[in-house]
Amino acid sequence: MERGSNPASRALPEASGRGVGDGPVQPTGMAIGCLHPLGLGEIVLAEGHELGDWQRRNSTKTLPHCVDRVVASGAVRNLERVAQGRGGEVPHEGWHFSDSDVYKVLEAAAWDGVRGLSAEVEGFVEETAAVVARAQRPDGYLNSWFQGQHPELVWKDLRWGHELYCAGHLLQAATAEQRTGSHPGLADVAERLVGHLLATFSLEDGDGRLVGVCGHPEVETALVEYYRLTGDVRLLALAKRQVDLRGRADVALPASGLLGDARFPLSYFLHHLPVRERTSATGHAVRELYLQAGVVDVAVETADLELLAASEAIWDDLFGTKTYLTGGHGSRHRDESIGDAYELPSDRAYAETCAAIASFQWNWRLLLATGRARYGEEMERVFWNTIAGAISREGTEFFYSNTLHLRTSHDSADEDSPRRRLPWYGCACCPPNLARLMASIQGYLVTRDASGLQVHLPFSGTVSTEVPGGNVDLAVRTGHPWEGTTDIEVTRCSSGERWDLSLHLPEWARRGATRVTVNEEPVEASLEGSYVRVAKHWRTGDHLQVSDSVPIRVLRSHWRVDAVRDCLAVQRGPLVYCVEADDLEEGVALEDVVLDATRPLEPTVVVPEDLQGYVKLAISASGESVDGSAGPLYDDKDAGQMRTEPLVLTFVPYFARGHRPEAAMRVWVPARQGQSETHPTELV
Ligand SMILES: [Zn+2]
Repeated sequence: MERGSNPASRALPEASGRGVGDGPVQPTGMAIGCLHPLGLGEIVLAEGHELGDWQRRNSTKTLPHCVDRVVASGAVRNLERVAQGRGGEVPHEGWHFSDSDVYKVLEAAAWDGVRGLSAEVEGFVEETAAVVARAQRPDGYLNSWFQGQHPELVWKDLRWGHELYCAGHLLQAATAEQRTGSHPGLADVAERLVGHLLATFSLEDGDGRLVGVCGHPEVETALVEYYRLTGDVRLLALAKRQVDLRGRADVALPASGLLGDARFPLSYFLHHLPVRERTSATGHAVRELYLQAGVVDVAVETADLELLAASEAIWDDLFGTKTYLTGGHGSRHRDESIGDAYELPSDRAYAETCAAIASFQWNWRLLLATGRARYGEEMERVFWNTIAGAISREGTEFFYSNTLHLRTSHDSADEDSPRRRLPWYGCACCPPNLARLMASIQGYLVTRDASGLQVHLPFSGTVSTEVPGGNVDLAVRTGHPWEGTTDIEVTRCSSGERWDLSLHLPEWARRGATRVTVNEEPVEASLEGSYVRVAKHWRTGDHLQVSDSVPIRVLRSHWRVDAVRDCLAVQRGPLVYCVEADDLEEGVALEDVVLDATRPLEPTVVVPEDLQGYVKLAISASGESVDGSAGPLYDDKDAGQMRTEPLVLTFVPYFARGHRPEAAMRVWVPARQGQSETHPTELV
């Protein structure tokens, strides 16, 4: 039985000066930065709507599932054995960084505690926090693999060890616990760990401590957030030092030989060049994206405009030339790496779920720091496509890699690119990452500044927060991501001042007509950047409505994306669509489908039977099937001579893929002959 199942049942405790009520990212100094995130309790998502239902599913399905799996996988047992002094008795279960899976689940539970935890999850949190505390060495060091298997290698394998990576996740879990006032089991552990890190790692050249960085960036964001929580400036100094040392030629990245593969280049670890000297996004996608999130955190808290500009330059490269239509990153399975500019093969897309989450987190930090709408655009793209599609309709199965084209004959015997979502993975980084993001997702939607409030991602729910001159309660209703109308009612306003209410207008919406009304009267709203902004003396009962048309867009890629040249993709609103083999006529292979975009594409509420209730709109289109089965692999004949048959195509949202038996699908569909002579466009 669940306790406190009402989403608003547990108010956050009174602020105590330790950041209680803050969400996952809470810039303090704001020497750089213009937007303040709202506190975690200031937004409540409504059930019966997309985001609220997803967060609810995260609480009732995903999080309990993750709890079960970190227990079953042995990740908790590894810590238990160390706590009992039996660490070396048996081999470590799972990857050597499995502690981080446990910490991510604890972090998710802490954020979720705002809405009340089930007895099962609460019991897990209490017991596991106690185990973690007992496993920690008296000097504050904590890592079950090194303590249990090879204590002589502690801090000797920074290349593969993931020790700082795991430490970062522990600190993030502790931060979440303290900000939500939930179970405080990790507070003392975090303090001891921080003491150990400060005693171990160099803060400046010549101080005699260990000069090194982690092969897997992550600790940077965690250290900055723990600094934001505690005010301990040494943690900010350590985070800054980690950023500054990375890529320095005189800083070694030692390997023990026990943990990793020697073939990986330094760029894989993002240790090939200093961050400030790079202009290219490269290496292991998750590492690069976590690093960049930490770089922005350090830049914001140290008022380092040069460092912020360096991160934005890498963003320009990544989002200008190396990003999938679905917002995914990583076009190579080998090294899980980003790939070259325009190297974006659909059928070999790796696009790891953790990279998508890291992209969301990096873009949020850049949005807070700069106010530039392009960062909100990318959050929306990656959220509603790669992140939403990484988890099953039921909330208990996951994609690790998120390909854009799964062939009919695809062999998915391993975990590398399975046909369907799996309940868990040997390398289990992604599922608990989804759980912690969705448990705190309301912390990424709205900001405020001196002028008023900004809604970046539409949602249905309530907001209670400060505005210039007082406080306001809002009731927000949106049809997003299916429809383009967002309705904001001022249910209470104590301010007598004029303030701005702004709503992000995504790039797809700006192509159609936008209608803005206040109390049902059309108003002239200013369009700044890509925000509709209405400034007035808001009163209780006022009603702002922003209505956008949601056109179906047929997209082409930049000319240089050879892999999908002459192909088309379909997007409606923020949702990228795909064709699944399950919706094709019998005998038609997915590989032989052609889209005729000269004929209209229509949204339809008649969605495939198995997706009803999950998908609100499918898209119907005209196409052809070609006879692609015969003929040699290579020939000098014109492919245009192939026989074709007319075909009705059904597109379903990419996020909903893989829930039916066939599973083969593709986002990019070849254009009908004669439609390919188009001018190059910007990368979609
Ligand atoms: Zn992952």
